This record gives sequence, C-alpha cells and structure tokens, in this order.
Amino acid sequence: MECVKCDKKAIFLEPTFCKDHFIKYFEDKVLNTIKKYDLIDKDDKIVVAVSGGKDSLVLLYILNNNFENVEALCIDEGIQGYRDKTIKILKDFCSKHNVNLNIKKFQKEFGKPLDIILKENKIKPCTVCGVFRRKLMNKYSKEYDVIATGHNRDDISQAILMDLLKYNLSLLSRLSPVSGTKTRKGFTKKIKPLYFISEKEVMAYSIILGIRTGFEECPNVEDAYRLKVRDELNRYEIKHLGTKKNIVDWYIKNHIDIKEKIKNSELVLRSCNRCGEPTSREICNSCTMEQKILSKDTLKVL
Ligand SMILES: [Zn+2]
Ligand SMILES: [Zn+2]
Repeated sequence: MECVKCDKKAIFLEPTFCKDHFIKYFEDKVLNTIKKYDLIDKDDKIVVAVSGGKDSLVLLYILNNNFENVEALCIDEGIQGYRDKTIKILKDFCSKHNVNLNIKKFQKEFGKPLDIILKENKIKPCTVCGVFRRKLMNKYSKEYDVIATGHNRDDISQAILMDLLKYNLSLLSRLSPVSGTKTRKGFTKKIKPLYFISEKEVMAYSIILGIRTGFEECPNVEDAYRLKVRDELNRYEIKHLGTKKNIVDWYIKNHIDIKEKIKNSELVLRSCNRCGEPTSREICNSCTMEQKILSKDTLKVL
C-alpha cells in the first residue's frame, strides 16, 4: 500500500503513511496538543516522569528535541529483577540523548525498598507503591514548572471509563491534558502531551526511531478491576473501531462541566503536619501509611 502523501511504501495503516510522513504526523500531533492546550511555555523547566517503558521514553525524546530545559525523573521503588532492568535502559537513553536523569529511591526516602515493605506487611502492592510514588513525584517535581507523563489515548480512555463506572467524579475531573494547576499551592502543573496518540502509534514510533524500551509489565500488577476494564475496552475496540477515541472526544467536550460540578465539593487542602505536602487531613495519606508499615527504627531515621 502507498502512503497517502507520497508514493513511498506505507508502514502504518491508519492513517496510511510512509515512515517519514508517519514521523511528521506523530510529532505534529504531540506538538499541536501542547500548543492547543497551552501545556508548556517556552521557558518552562520541564521534568518527564519516566518508567523506562515506551510511552515515557517517546515523550522524553520528543520534548527533549523541541524544548530547552528537559530532565527526567524516575522513582525506583526497588522491585528486583524489574526496576534494575528499566533503570539500565533509562540510563543508556539519557546518556545518549544528553538528558539529566534524577532517580529517587524508596530505600533512601522511606528506609526500605518495596520488596521488603511487602515482605513485612500484608498490604496490596499497588496501594502502597502508588501512594509513596505520588508523594515523591509531587515532592521532586516542585522545582520544575511542569511535570509531563506519558499517558496515551488508550490509558486515558480506560481511566475515563473506570471513573465513570465507579462514579468517581473527583478522579474523573482530573483527566484532562493538563491538571494540578500552578494556582493550587503545593502542586506542579501536570501535563499529558500524548493524550490524543494511540498506544499503537506510540509503539510504531518507538520502533521506527529505534527507541529501546522495557516491554515487561510490573510484576506486582494486580488491580483486577483496571485490568478487566482494559481487556473489555480492547475487545470493544476490535469490534467497534474508534471506541477509545470516542470516549476521549466525549470527555474533552464535557470535562469543563464535570470540573464545574465537583468544584463546590472539592476538599479544602492544607499542609500535612508531618511532611508539609498538600492534604485534606492533618496527616497525609503517605505519612499515615509510613507510620503504619515502617518500623520504629526506620521512622526515627526519617
Ligand atoms: Zn509518505
Ligand atoms: Zn505527610
């Protein structure tokens, strides 16, 4: 099949483009999203949250090629046999592309890696990992103007559907291309430049550009509900092409209304008495968990 823009062989079907036209289409789409939703100002100090997977590396690659101040931030929770591999990939990538890579370890921040925390406590891995990870992301993104994450259209449509099914309007209201605005104290502006890019497109782009990524899923992944929604949505997409795009398009048309609706019920934020991070309670979620699961000896050091 021929590219719709030239007479070269197509390497991607929907849309049907040759290699060069696909690269241009992909990068234009990301840069147009940044422009349209005012995600990045020219002089912004940008940090990309990286996992070593294809989405965050593709995002880092494009932002680093188009903006001046771009760094990477990786949270090393300490899962042996998984995180060490992705960190190696990240280090290689960042040294090749001249990007400053910041690695923050659970071990250093909380006194123990996730593997040990899980061994010592009966607790769901994704719960503790998510809470601690968010805390470190928030803490270490403060010196930047924006933090960018690699969520693609598949991820977003899945999150929208999940929050709808659970009727969680508060979470649902935070799924636009930009959230956590500068106007809320204690938060850094969070942006998702790959918002309108499908997972298939990210995959194709990373292969074409030779961006080596970790393909493995986190060995602890166990959020059964999320996986079910993901699988159902994938099945639906195969039968009814465009389902994921429709969900995201619906959201974009309505998210301002959703935000407006929950505005009055939004929790008033204050600073955590223990760590100073924003929270709606006296002690934040992460500190409560730290006090519960970390030993007294570890807490003394903190
Ligand atoms: Zn072409
Ligand atoms: Zn706290």
